[in-house]
Amino acid sequence: MIDTHAHITCDELFPQAEDVLQRARDAGVERILCICLNPEEVKRAFALQEQYPWLDIAAGYHPGDLYELDEKAWNDMERIVQDERILAIGEIGLDYHWDDVDKETQKQAFITQIEWANRLHKPILIHMRDATKDTLELLKAHKQVNGIMHCFSGSIETARELLAMGMYLSVGGPLTFLNARGIPEVISQCPPDRLFLETDCPYLTPHPHRGKRNEPMYLSYTCDKLAEVLDMETKALNAHLRENYRKLFHI
Ligand SMILES: [Zn+2]
Repeated sequence: MIDTHAHITCDELFPQAEDVLQRARDAGVERILCICLNPEEVKRAFALQEQYPWLDIAAGYHPGDLYELDEKAWNDMERIVQDERILAIGEIGLDYHWDDVDKETQKQAFITQIEWANRLHKPILIHMRDATKDTLELLKAHKQVNGIMHCFSGSIETARELLAMGMYLSVGGPLTFLNARGIPEVISQCPPDRLFLETDCPYLTPHPHRGKRNEPMYLSYTCDKLAEVLDMETKALNAHLRENYRKLFHI
């Protein structure tokens, strides 16, 4: 299995990163894309990667963190994403659920980072919460690269629009929740060659561990549920997902 969205270097998980990665490996996770939200997390990830070459790295500014960024922070991140160890730009996007950062600031930051990705030919990893319309509009207007809509929980119409523009959809713990509502039904209509699995750890722990701190070792619960939803064997499913990863990240 591949976990395409894990915050291994966040303050909560990083102190136990070695144990977390060992448990992931023991649970059958063969690769992890570590999402870094600031230069400090990237530094941690570069150091971890020396020891764990199956840890891949993405970096970008999350829409919820924009209020604390000055010009130096922007210059630092622009330099960092050019490093060849950074496989993708993200997570970036729009989050209108919280109002710490106004919509215009979020949109501007999103566009700036999509343009970095276009210039560097690196995929984008998108965070979208309560902002479907604006996210789709900005992607249509600016995006030239492909990418992943992380923790997708939208409608079938939104899924179709994203797939039509070359995006992949990633599913996380919410697929397994007992009140998952429409997610399984929407995902069941998506082609397996456009899907990914993720934990978004330390958040969104899958059922039956919901409420505990999430780790990549819990990915199998989401994987089993996805296989059930798509009516596939997990082995065949993971072969698709591995191929998707190879294609998108050129690994
Ligand atoms: Zn995340």
